[in-house]
Amino acid sequence: MGFSTKAIHTGIEPDPTTGALMTPIHLTSTYHQEELGKNKGYDYSRAGNPTRTVLETNIAALENGKEGFAFASGMAAEAAVFHLLKAGDHIIVSQNVYGGTYRLAKLVLENFGLQFDFVDTTDLAVVKASLKPNTKMVFIETPTNPTMEITDLRASAKLCKAHKVVSVVDNTFATPYLQNPLDFGIDIVLHSATKYLNGHSDMLGGLVVLNDAKLAERLRFIQKSVGGILSPFEAWMCLRGIKTLAVRMARHDSNAVEVASFLNTQRRVKKVNYPGLVAHPQHWLAQKQMRGFGGMISFDLGSLEKAKKFLKSVRLCALAESLGGVETLISHPATMTHASVPPEERQRIGVTDGLVRISVGIEDVEDIIEDLRHALGKL
Ligand SMILES: *Cc1c(COP(=O)(O)O)cnc(C)c1O
Repeated sequence: MGFSTKAIHTGIEPDPTTGALMTPIHLTSTYHQEELGKNKGYDYSRAGNPTRTVLETNIAALENGKEGFAFASGMAAEAAVFHLLKAGDHIIVSQNVYGGTYRLAKLVLENFGLQFDFVDTTDLAVVKASLKPNTKMVFIETPTNPTMEITDLRASAKLCKAHKVVSVVDNTFATPYLQNPLDFGIDIVLHSATKYLNGHSDMLGGLVVLNDAKLAERLRFIQKSVGGILSPFEAWMCLRGIKTLAVRMARHDSNAVEVASFLNTQRRVKKVNYPGLVAHPQHWLAQKQMRGFGGMISFDLGSLEKAKKFLKSVRLCALAESLGGVETLISHPATMTHASVPPEERQRIGVTDGLVRISVGIEDVEDIIEDLRHALGKL
């Protein structure tokens, strides 16, 4: 079955009691039990809810995995995954991950005895050298936020397997339309569904998919015990968004290719980070493990002053955090998404003061380019 067909149909059956074609939103906390120990598979909505189950089944199919899990946000999904570990465990994380991942690791989880190292996972030798006897997890983001670096999924999965380390990939930027980490042997894939999966900038959610039965059982237990679950309404919204994921991603991708090519020709733009550009240092790797390059681009204008002026001058592109919606969003990583990363660390990972990130929407690409051309003209 093709991707779009799976996105539209997997897990979605007409409601047996009414024939409703669309998944009902099951707004219930509890479920009637016929007799002691006898129910229809649900007893309390923190443990399971039929609307959420449909989404969990659907995302599992899209990621070519066995089990899916839905959480209240991408961060709740990450927190649940880190709960698979215990005090004293060491985790290797891609050095320029989403700012919230860094914050969760350094400012929350380190208080509970987990140890994190942020390293350049695009270089396998660095990952290998960072492995310790107590390393239990490697957490990769690819492409990374916001510098769009690519980590080799197959090689990383192989290294992790050889050292009995759980491999995790944050697949938010690529989405299962462009990249399926589990196909390369990665153990756990996770998403901020807030972004492309829902795609309309109107809900928050997080999704996890994996294959291993033991890990799945433990994560199901954590989901129920810690309780950061996705509400039935948001699960329904996300399902609705996913139905058009394929057409949206194709357009995000083709628009971004054009926007990146345009930016690349502009003398006021010092550098463009987009894996679809031949000049991107890992263009070949992106071609190998992705089915397109996605809608995220970052580019350097040289200074905070110029970035500020540019962001004040855009009219169509909305200055906002977040990404992956149908509308073009533009942001300044150093003061927005990566504000919680210390300045020297930001410098080290390439999140310079002049760096601007753009989440290319699905508007008419000529209009997006015109807006950027106008704003660049103000510099
Ligand atoms: C947004 C984002 C997250 C966090 O997701 P929320 O839904 O905002 O909690 C994690 N990883 C990446 C790559 C993101 O873009």
